[in-house]
Parts: sequence; structure tokens; C-alpha cells
Amino acid sequence: MLTGIAASPGIAVGKVLLVSPELDRQETHGVQDDQQAAFQQALTASKNELMALRQRVSVQTGEAAAAVFDAQMLMLDDPNLVNPVCQAIDDGVDAVQAVEKITQTLTALFAGMENSYMRERAADINDISRRLIRHLTGSPQLDWTEMNDPVILVAQDLTPSDTAQLDPCKVLGFATQSGGKTSHSAILARTLEIPAVVGVPGLLAEIKGGDVIGIDGEAGEVFINPDPAVVNRLQQKAAIAARLREELTLLRDHPAITQDGHRVELAANVGHPKDIPMALAHGAEGVGLYRTEFIFMGRTQLPDEEEQYQAYRTVVAGMKGKPVIIRTLDVGGDKQIPYLNMPSEANPFLGWRALRMCLDRPELFKTQLRALWRAGCHGMLKIMFPMVSQLAEVRLAKELLAQAREELLSEGYQLPERIPVGIMIEIPAAALIADQLAREVDFFSIGSNDLIQYTIGVDRMNQQISRLYQPLHPGVLRLIAMVIEAAHRQDKWVGMCGEMAGELQCVPILLGLGLDEFSMSSGNILQVKHRIQTLSAEHCRNLAAKCLAVGEAEEVRRLVESLK
Ligand code: PEP
Ligand code: MG
Repeated sequence: MLTGIAASPGIAVGKVLLVSPELDRQETHGVQDDQQAAFQQALTASKNELMALRQRVSVQTGEAAAAVFDAQMLMLDDPNLVNPVCQAIDDGVDAVQAVEKITQTLTALFAGMENSYMRERAADINDISRRLIRHLTGSPQLDWTEMNDPVILVAQDLTPSDTAQLDPCKVLGFATQSGGKTSHSAILARTLEIPAVVGVPGLLAEIKGGDVIGIDGEAGEVFINPDPAVVNRLQQKAAIAARLREELTLLRDHPAITQDGHRVELAANVGHPKDIPMALAHGAEGVGLYRTEFIFMGRTQLPDEEEQYQAYRTVVAGMKGKPVIIRTLDVGGDKQIPYLNMPSEANPFLGWRALRMCLDRPELFKTQLRALWRAGCHGMLKIMFPMVSQLAEVRLAKELLAQAREELLSEGYQLPERIPVGIMIEIPAAALIADQLAREVDFFSIGSNDLIQYTIGVDRMNQQISRLYQPLHPGVLRLIAMVIEAAHRQDKWVGMCGEMAGELQCVPILLGLGLDEFSMSSGNILQVKHRIQTLSAEHCRNLAAKCLAVGEAEEVRRLVESLK
């Protein structure tokens, strides 16, 4: 048995599909001595694949969408790509590196062009580069439409964009060698309710394609070719969990209210309009975080205003009058979008992320803000800006929001009078000036995933130091207490949409600190509600006060455990 980080609860037993290019590279590389021949084979295989893809897309979606692949097929014949790669291979560079190097140069060239059509071709070059490298390394393509039997994916890591495209009917679960509990792939797995274990040391060395594995996403355990007794035990555990879930659904329409009558709001985090039915089925009283970046992924160009409007409207209307907080684009960090041509950065989580990028690209930001105003007519929408570190950023974002409204009004749109505006508190500096920020906005939502990583200085993606990633660190708790106090002093409410809000051991302290809204993966809502119903708010306040006075997460944990 291997042990990793429990990323998404649930049990799965099934056949492995390896999706790690690195792994396949180790196995297939070196067998192919003739790098020129390998490159020619990759070119042919890529063209054949694009031809087949073109045909399928033309039937399913239409000629306009299929034409994208014509441009890519032409590029595979273009001497400006093929000749320099062949030259580099002649000079002794390995075929994969040659493709990487030449396509990076071409991407930078296209990305810097004046003409927007040419600029967009940079994404096509990226796409064909990935396709060629996949063929050179022999790694399988994740084409869910053609996968027959459900599998368990095993990979070095999965990008958020890979995970967002997983079909829960075809993927029973996944296990990765890298990754942390709050990496976006893990968060998405919880939203999709796909069992997952991440950060499993030695995983790729132990597993071969075709093996059978069992994963326990709650315990963080991976069993390779498990014997019948282990499979039986896993199945029993799954059956007990299913029964518990069934019992909890009885709480769906009841409020989250403590024994002594203190009520809080329980909301869902969603990443896609299709997550709304699940949120409602789990009794969400609203959407506390809609991560809009996922509609920007898995494609080659920006969604336009109309497409964004349709997605936001579906979420707002789908929640049937319940509040919906839509967060503006938060890319960067582990969420990379190739066609945005974001520079590669030494520290992407400290880099050109989220609101910082949006304020530097007002044309892109305005398109989203316009779509949001229009969606605001269909329900109770609130807008939230991520990664705020300065007052000036909030003021500028609000200014652009007001401009977007003026523009739309002058074009004849009917719009809501106002939309409540909030910010995420996920940078310690923002927590420390929460009193100032509270004057500018209607609400705060604490992004604990980032707040923890920045406060403790621990990369949320790095499994090597995952033991230091401690939501119950008193330093984190003190910042949360400051934020809630500062907001309440100005009659503003405070939610939390980081994963901490859905962790059972954190709930009593957050309640005691006065958190008003808890937003989490839909699958956690009912068990958190059950926990809240057993608590006394007064006892939680006493507990929180004690936790703020200790020096270590371990002491906090002991205090929580001693709570009856
Ligand atoms: C957070 O940082 O807690 C958060 C909710 O945002 P994200 O996980 O998308 O960075
Ligand atoms: Mg964040």
C-alpha cells in the first residue's frame, strides 16, 4: 500500500490508465534511436489525428469549428517549423527538446504580433507542440469520447484543465505523484465527486499500465493489484459511506443552526454551470464561489461576452433566487491558459495572477464585467474580486465595473440598479488592512487556500512540505479573527470559500470566530450542517478564544477535540 494526501473522498477500484508523459518517456525513449525518423512519425501521426478530429468536429459542431484544425494541419507542413526542428536534431538535440525549443520560439514570435488573428495562432502552435510531444513520448491521449471501460488515472500530476474535462462516468478516480490538497485538480475532483489521492511518493515507479488499483480518497491510500480481501474491505467501507450520505440527505432542507440558535449560511463552490443541480441536491443555500476561470480553459481562444453571459446567467438563474457570488477571472498560479500568453514566472503563485492580470488587461476584464452586469438581471448576483492586496486595486476594479455599466446602459440594456461587490481576503496584507478594505465593499470571503500558503509560507502544491500546510495554525486563526472583527465592526458580513470552510475539525473554531457564511464543495455541505447542529455557539466562542491564545496547530487540534 502507498500513502498520499487524501484529496477527494470515495473509494474506487479499477484498471489503471497511465497519463504521465514523463513515465512514458522513460519507457519509450531510447528505444527510438533515430530521432529524425521519430519526428517524421510524430508529424504523420499528428496529421492523421487532426484529420480524424476535423471530421468528427465538423459533423458534431459544424464547419466553422472544424476549420481550426485546417490551420494546424498546414502548420505541420510549414518549413518554418519543420526545417529548424530537423536542423536542431542534426545538431544532436533530442527530438522532444527540439520540438519544445522551436515551438517556444515560434509561439513568442506570434504572441508578439500586432495583428490579433496572428497573435491567436500562438495557441495553435502550443497545441501542435503538445500533440507532437505526446506522439514522441508515446503517452496516450485522453480522449474520453472513445474510452470504453471506466479507468483510474495515474499521473505525475493533472492540470486543472485536464481535471475539468474528466468525465465521472469514465474516470472512477485518480492518483497522482505530485499535488496538494488545495491544488485546483484536487478541488475539482471534490466538486466532480471523483475519489482522488494526490502527492503519493513513489507512485509512478510502482505502477504499470494495465495494473488494477484501489484508491481510498478519504484515507489517502493506494493499493496496487489488491487481493480480494482488500477489495472486499474497500467495498464495505464504500457501502457504509453511501449509507451515511443517504442518512444525511434528510438534513437537506433544514437550516444550519446551532443548539443555541445561532444560524449560519452554507453555500457551494462551483466551477461550471453543470455543477448547480448537484449544489441544490446537497442543500446549498447559495453559491459562495463560482470559479469563472474554468470556462476559459480547454479551448484556444477567449470566450466572448455572449458566451460568458450565457454561463453566468445559467448559474444565477439555476439557483432560483438564492445568492450567487461570481468571482472574476483568477488565472495564474496552477491555472495556466496557453492562449493568454502569460509569461512563465519563477513564482507563479506570487506573480501576475487574478485581479492583477485583469487590471493590466482592461479590455479582457471589461468583457467579463459586462457579461456579469447582464447576468445580474436573472437572480441574486454578487461580484467578487480575487487576490486583492491593495486598496487601489479595489477602487480601480470598482471603477471598471461602473464603466461597464455605463457602456451597457448607453447601448440600451436594462440592468440592475446595483450589484453587491466583495473581495477575497487571501493575502495577509489584505487581512491586516481589513478595516480599510471593509469601507470599500459589501462583503469579504476568506480564501483560506491562498491565505494559508502565504501566511505560513508553504506552497499549496508541494507535497514535500504538506505537513506544514496547517489551517489550524494560530497565525492563520488570528488573521481570520482580525478580518471577521474588522468587517463586523462596519456591519459587513464575512464568508469563507477556501477548503478550510468544509473541514469538520475547523468548523467549531470558524463558528466561534463569527464566520457568517461557509462555502465548500457541495459534497461536504450536509456533513458540515450535521456538525453545526450538534454545536453550541457559546462553547465555540470560548473555544475560539482559547485557540487564539496558543502557539501551535497541535494545541489547537487538542482543544477542538476536547470540545463536546
Ligand atoms: C482560496 O484561495 O481559498 C480560494 C478559494 O481560491 P482558489 O483556491 O481558487 O485560489
Ligand atoms: Mg485563491
